[in-house]
Amino acid sequence: MSTSDTVRRLAELDAKSTHSDGDRIACPHCGHTMRDLWDYEWGSREIINVECGECEKSFALVMHVSVSYTAKPLLETTDGPDA
Ligand SMILES: [Zn+2]
Repeated sequence: MSTSDTVRRLAELDAKSTHSDGDRIACPHCGHTMRDLWDYEWGSREIINVECGECEKSFALVMHVSVSYTAKPLLETTDGPDA
């Protein structure tokens, strides 16, 4: 397979990719909705191979994790040890 064939094939796969709606995702082959994605055997991985419960075809399930932080000033008290 030539490089351009590979690029085209990857683009086709990208076009078939589905994105999760909360904890549900549609099978990229048949559209079957799969739930409870956190129950899969993730281990410490961010990408796993899973099999659709409906059409039994395999696909890659990729976990996207986003982390956010909040900084809040502490309540200042006048009766602390240094007061
Ligand atoms: Zn399927």
